[in-house]
Amino acid sequence: MGVLRIVPLVDPRRGLPSVERVLAALPPDLAHGVRVRCARAALDAARDRMSTGEAVTFDAVVADANDRLQAAVRGLLGPVVNATGVLLHTNLGRAPLGADALDAAVGSARYSNLEFRLDTGSRGSRHEHAGQLLAAACGAEAGMVVNNNAAAVMCTLAALARGADVIVSRGELVEIGGSFRVPDIMREAGARLVEVGTTNRTRRGDYEAAITDTTALVLKVHASNYRMVGFVEDTGVAELSTLGKPVVVDAGSGLLDETTPWLPHRPTWLRGELGVRQCIDAGAALVLFSGDKLLGGPQAGAIVGRADLVARIARHPLARVVRADKMTLAAMQSVALTYLSGDATSLPLWQMATATIAELRARAERIASAVAGLKVCDTAATAGGGSLPGLDIPSVGVALDVDNVDGALAQLRAARIVALGRDGRVVCDLRTVDPSEDDRVASTLRTLSEAH
Ligand SMILES: *Cc1c(COP(=O)(O)O)cnc(C)c1O
Repeated sequence: MGVLRIVPLVDPRRGLPSVERVLAALPPDLAHGVRVRCARAALDAARDRMSTGEAVTFDAVVADANDRLQAAVRGLLGPVVNATGVLLHTNLGRAPLGADALDAAVGSARYSNLEFRLDTGSRGSRHEHAGQLLAAACGAEAGMVVNNNAAAVMCTLAALARGADVIVSRGELVEIGGSFRVPDIMREAGARLVEVGTTNRTRRGDYEAAITDTTALVLKVHASNYRMVGFVEDTGVAELSTLGKPVVVDAGSGLLDETTPWLPHRPTWLRGELGVRQCIDAGAALVLFSGDKLLGGPQAGAIVGRADLVARIARHPLARVVRADKMTLAAMQSVALTYLSGDATSLPLWQMATATIAELRARAERIASAVAGLKVCDTAATAGGGSLPGLDIPSVGVALDVDNVDGALAQLRAARIVALGRDGRVVCDLRTVDPSEDDRVASTLRTLSEAH
């Protein structure tokens, strides 16, 4: 007969430190509530590990909590260095705003005459500032600004074509990304899509044959994010505007004016882009475009064109749903004023776009000379944001050979630098890096090169 031994149950979890003790060992920055969550999560993980018999030290719990805190800090929305060479990188916030736009946004962030007329003391409209200036900048009668271009399309269709037909070429039934597909938007806006032509060719006659009493609009969608070559034909705005129905152009990206009068030296790679002014001149009733992709401004959507149509859209309930806030409107106003000044070279988008190879190479050489093993390399930047598909912008970067590209990119990301991995190297394309960030790129790459 065995002896029944009663073993006292010792709960190893009793040894866990308190949340307060872990908190006291964490760096004091960052909101208390976030630090508590990290401490609790580390303690929970420790409890799980101890329940399987593992021994967990106090230091290990603190280290885990600290890792969680660092991850939480990295996850906060904040600035990064864009060393990808993608100018309008949607995941990195598209266009960087310049000092003027930032000052305007900050200045209007308090009380502002958003919907108030200072001359009469009466109620105004939030479309009177940026909207009207943008219209002036592209030769249109009127303009308004909404949350983004997707919202501009949705509002326009809902206000002008609900329950009616909208004629679109089969070659322009595009997906912009992020679930923005022309047929879906059309359905959501309550408009009936009438497809005409074929994928590669649509002529004026195709549109003409589809026009009926229930036709509200002819919609022309800029093939901004892909390119069709070969046996292709589309019908331009000038021809479409002879059909007797308002022509709405969803431009998305492109140029405010295809002659870029605001640039003293137009980059040679910038060719044949759709111009808002040219669409208006050719008879478009409305042109819709992105504040960031087309202007280099904040996220916003612009609607410019006939005053009666803009007024109808502004009155529609959806315009209220997707209206832009005062900071966006102030930044858009600033950007519109910059274009109207005739010199847009102060906008970061145009600074990046027009930086010469010689300037970029000089910066690359300076950075490379400060870091052992770092080489200057030719790169190909791109417009991004779905703009100028297939077009490479000649550029220059610095490259470092590393054993583990993914690990090196992660280290750069921990320093909030987003770079590229290419053939066993990390590459920082300097076209999208502000020159004021060069030293940070250099010192982070130096740390990386010393570790490899
Ligand atoms: C980018 C784009 C949109 C969507 O614009 P957002 O500003 O991203 O909402 C719509 N239409 C076209 C043609 C575009 O290129």
